[in-house]
Amino acid sequence: MNLDSAASATPQDTPTADSQVLVELRDVQKHFGELHVLRDIDLTVTHGEVLVVIGPSGSGKSTLCRAINRLETIDSGTIEIDGKPMPAEGKELAQLRSDVGMVFQSFNLFAHKTVLENVTLGPIKVRGTKKSEAKAEAMKLLERVGVDNQANKLPAQLSGGQQQRVAIARALAMHPKVMLFDEPTSALDPEMINEVLDAMVELAKEGMTMIVVTHEMGFARKAADRVVFMADGQIVEEATPEEFFTNPQSDRAKDFLSKIL
Ligand code: ADP
Ligand code: MG
Repeated sequence: MNLDSAASATPQDTPTADSQVLVELRDVQKHFGELHVLRDIDLTVTHGEVLVVIGPSGSGKSTLCRAINRLETIDSGTIEIDGKPMPAEGKELAQLRSDVGMVFQSFNLFAHKTVLENVTLGPIKVRGTKKSEAKAEAMKLLERVGVDNQANKLPAQLSGGQQQRVAIARALAMHPKVMLFDEPTSALDPEMINEVLDAMVELAKEGMTMIVVTHEMGFARKAADRVVFMADGQIVEEATPEEFFTNPQSDRAKDFLSKIL
C-alpha cells in the first residue's frame, strides 16, 4: 500500500528495495480445451504493493490466482515468486507455495478442527514449528483479525465474516511473501463484508504484498496501489484506482463499471 502516492515517485522510477519485483508473470498462456482463459499475461507486483484485479465473471481472474499459486498449470510463459520459478511438484513446490497465502471466496476451513487448530496445522506440519510456538503465534494472528475469542470453537459456530478472518489468519501463519485474495467477501452477508475488508486494509497498511480480486470499489480506492482490469483472459487496463474509476479507457471497462458502480 502506497500511503504517500501523491508525494512519492512511481515504483518504476525508484529502484529501491521497496520496488523490488516479488511476483512476475511473463507471457502466460492457459487454455481449458478450446477456451483461451489466460492470454499474453504480463504482470509484475513489487514488494508491499497492493494490486486489485477486477473484471467480469469468467474473465480469468480466479484462474490467474490459481496459476500464481500453481493450483493450476499454465501452457506457456513463466511465473516467478521472489525471483524463483514455481517448481512443478514435490517439497520445493510445498515450500514455494507457502510463500503465497491464499484466501478464497468460500472459507475452506477444516470443518472438524477448531479455529486455533486451523491456524496452527500448517506451521506445525509444513514449517515444522513447535506446537507451543505455533499456538502462541496463532493467537496473536487471531487477535490481529479480531477473532481470538473464537479460538476454541469449530468453524460452523462462527459467522461467515469471522470464518473468513480465520482464513486470513491461517494464511498469515505460513509467513507468506504475498497474499492472494479471490473475491474474499462475495459469499458474505452484506453486514459482514466490512469486517473482512477492514482486516485486509490493516494488512495492506502493514506492508503486506497483496493481489486482491474484488469488486469492492471502496477497498480498491482505499488500499490499492494499482488496478488491473481483465476481460476475456486478457489484461485490458492497468491504472491507479483514481485513474481507473474516474477515467476508464476501454469500452469493456466503461461498460463493466457502469454495471457495478
Ligand atoms: P473469473 O474468476 O474471472 O470469473 P475463471 O478464472 O473462474 O474466471 O474462469 C475463466 C473461464 O474459464 C470461465 O469461462 C470458466 O468457465 C472457465 N474455467 C474455469 N475453470 C475451469 C476448468 N477447471 N475447466 C474448464 N473451464 C474452466
Ligand atoms: Mg473467480
